[in-house]
Amino acid sequence: MTGRMVEAVDSLLNKMEVGHDGNRKEGGCSVAAKTHPDAKMHAVSWMGSHNMQVKEVPRPMVTDPADVLLRVTNTAICGSDLHLYVHGMPSMKSGDVLGHEFMGVVEEVGDAVTKVKRGDRVLVAFDIACGHCFFCNHGYQSSCDSTNPSKVQEAMYGQAAGGFFGYSHLTGGYQGGQADFVRVPFGDVNCLKVPDGLADHDALFLTDILPTAWHANEMGEVHEGDVVAIWGAGPVGILAAHCAQHRGARRVIMIDSVQDRLDFVKRKLPGVETLNFKEKETVSALREMTANEPGRGPDVVIEAAGFHYSKSWLHAIEMKLQLETDTADMLNEMITAVRKGGRISIVGVYIGFVNHLNIGAFMEKQLTMRGGQTPVQRYWPTLLPKVQAGELVPSMVITHVLPLEQAPKGYKIFNEKSDGCIKVVLQPGATEAVTLPPAGRT
Ligand code: NAD
Ligand code: ZN
Repeated sequence: MTGRMVEAVDSLLNKMEVGHDGNRKEGGCSVAAKTHPDAKMHAVSWMGSHNMQVKEVPRPMVTDPADVLLRVTNTAICGSDLHLYVHGMPSMKSGDVLGHEFMGVVEEVGDAVTKVKRGDRVLVAFDIACGHCFFCNHGYQSSCDSTNPSKVQEAMYGQAAGGFFGYSHLTGGYQGGQADFVRVPFGDVNCLKVPDGLADHDALFLTDILPTAWHANEMGEVHEGDVVAIWGAGPVGILAAHCAQHRGARRVIMIDSVQDRLDFVKRKLPGVETLNFKEKETVSALREMTANEPGRGPDVVIEAAGFHYSKSWLHAIEMKLQLETDTADMLNEMITAVRKGGRISIVGVYIGFVNHLNIGAFMEKQLTMRGGQTPVQRYWPTLLPKVQAGELVPSMVITHVLPLEQAPKGYKIFNEKSDGCIKVVLQPGATEAVTLPPAGRT
């Protein structure tokens, strides 16, 4: 969704007066943090399309008894932040503090917090869970019933998903962690203590993209011997490939048009095959690549790109006419390419409506399609030991470590996929970029 469509939705949302800070749901938490009367901090603020700025803003304080106040040491820019950068996501407000992938040191805790204490090194899930509603109790923490008061999302989806840090007011409007400090509601539920001996950058991606990559594999039920095709060789797609190999997939095929990224994957994950859709149309290329497979197509297809990447003129026209918000381009490629009886897993973000979905092929080919924002907390017990043991190495995607002050540059190169950028880590308080080996870490 871009341009006029976003503006139209925004004006509707304003009329409906939803997502206002201070709203809270029963069993939930305050959305807006109390702010310190004197202390200020630096934070990455959304100031409009392609305009992220580091601003001085009031420092948040412990607001509810279950809160943790965190001093941020490392925070990353996510592909989900790019939807905001290109202003594809409605219900953003000028000055919104961004960031949902972050870790740091506990500065202060509320009276009800028992599992972490001042001085602990913790990482935080991007999805804000209350830990006690029906959905949290059943492992659907990103669908927490208590933390997202947006009535628009409820009207659009039937039920609102959970609240997220540093994102649109459709997901609550909470302040994010691309900042010196961040308030974490329900700290006992949403913080994970980082074990001694685990380096910051090895731990950081347990906040989002490693669990998301795993979630993609879980929803696609990737197991020993599978052929898996992945749309999008960004950080999420690369880690999804890493997880698929770890789970015993026999072949993993990564699709993108950025040759740099496909080359990066080949270097980091030997054995992964690549397909550049600028050189060869995706579906026919996959058909050729899997012609000798028993099912003559991938068993599992994973969407790790998202709604704002569209290449069809039809979608461009329908967007202009406000006839759809998202694109069915990649979904139709996946439905067509996957083998009969195959599994479709969607972790790339979609927010609204698409026309022309090939529902006939989906039904007649006996396919399964699952999607979702990741319930990060569900996967911590599985993934933390694997990271500690070095079986999964999520830090492989880091190509840039910049001071927080250089966030605008970080957003620009990540969005443009320039300077070999795969994943940017920002460090509050740092004054210089960290120099990494040419292709990121080995
Ligand atoms: P990214 O933007 O760096 O990567 C997306 C990649 O997709 C890019 O390299 C782009 O060139 C490629 N692409 C674009 N069009 C394509 C097409 N037609 N076919 C194949 N590839 C195409 O972002 P990322 O950080 O890797 O995140 C990927 C997606 O995952 C985003 O949509 C993000 O919002 C989403 N995400 C979801 C969750 C979740 O909980 N479900 C969590 C984190 C990120
Ligand atoms: Zn993210």
